[in-house]
Amino acid sequence: MGRGIETKCIYGDSAKFEGDRAGSISFPIYQTATFAHPAVGQSTGYDYSRLQNPTRQQLEQVVASLEGGVDALAFSSGMAAMTALMELFRPGDHIITDADLYGGSIRLFRSISQKNGISFSHIDCTKEDVESYILDNTRAILIETPTNPMMHVIDIRRMAETAKRHGLLLIVDNTFLSPYFQKPLTLGANIVLHSGTKFLGGHNDTLAGFLVTGSPELSEQLRFISKTVGSGLAPFDSWLILRGIKTLPIRMERAQENAQSIARFLLGERRVRKVYYPGIPGTQAYEICRRQASGFGSMITFEVESRELALHLLKNTKLIPFAESLGGVETLLTYPTTQTHADVPVDIQQKNGITDRVLRLSVGIETKEDLIQDLKQAMDSFEASP
Ligand SMILES: *Cc1c(COP(=O)(O)O)cnc(C)c1O
Repeated sequence: MGRGIETKCIYGDSAKFEGDRAGSISFPIYQTATFAHPAVGQSTGYDYSRLQNPTRQQLEQVVASLEGGVDALAFSSGMAAMTALMELFRPGDHIITDADLYGGSIRLFRSISQKNGISFSHIDCTKEDVESYILDNTRAILIETPTNPMMHVIDIRRMAETAKRHGLLLIVDNTFLSPYFQKPLTLGANIVLHSGTKFLGGHNDTLAGFLVTGSPELSEQLRFISKTVGSGLAPFDSWLILRGIKTLPIRMERAQENAQSIARFLLGERRVRKVYYPGIPGTQAYEICRRQASGFGSMITFEVESRELALHLLKNTKLIPFAESLGGVETLLTYPTTQTHADVPVDIQQKNGITDRVLRLSVGIETKEDLIQDLKQAMDSFEASP
């Protein structure tokens, strides 16, 4: 308690690590599937790595500490975390989600959870009256904020009040801002989900996912699911994410600073029609984000004047790769309509405003002038082409 977030990123809330005779500063990788028992009926606390592994536990302790949760569970990917989360629900249950969500989550709900008897209402939580969608069998409200890819900002406190009034769980995918900028559990959410692949890992080199809970009961249910379905994060990958998190604060700050400059650059470009970035003052997204988060992050979605220009940019940036994913030190340019959101039905894509003119930029920590220069040369070479 009482530690600053930068310290928590390195140590979590735990005391100095004492378990290692050599005095290793870096937490050891316990690359073992199983553990020896001292005698019948006795355990070191570790039996088998699907259930517990010290490296994974260290990571979980750090993530729980960052989010202000009672517990965190590490999974092999964000989608593995979401899949385990869906096991909290039973056939007949109903979940309200915001319509603008990571494409893989929508695919999971529509192709697997629905088959298992769970139904969904996909609504616009920034505009529609959430309460009017609550049914007798509604169990949860699930949101991302800011949303992927349209960067809507949803009022977490308001959602938490609605959920509480009706006895529902509020689940928040906090991937886009990370606990460095936003802590949904402290605003009333019950469960936080992360794709640890993104800002937490931070280097575009490891997949991971998290569920962080605000109550021991939820933690117990999810631990049972995790050990039973077996999608816990491997020891080496746990270590890589631990290492990534140590620099989370300085990466988030630098990436945000870069994003602010790039958003300003894009706003000044004649062929850019819209810039969706919560850090632009004067918007509703900005006002809500300021109240519930300590930063605006480094994800920018923008719409250009034509599909041709979008394709031209994807082909002609020289420094910035055209790739999906986000949250790493490398800036990436993504085309949601054929990448992250390709499996989202066209009507939902259109309802959300995901057109073939929309691009998403995950801003990294390179020199910002280099990033702007790269985007500018790609824009200008379109002007020059016939
Ligand atoms: C990437 C992502 C996921 C899925 O995580 P993986 O680690 O790719 O499985 C879930 N939610 C959001 C917001 C994401 O960006």
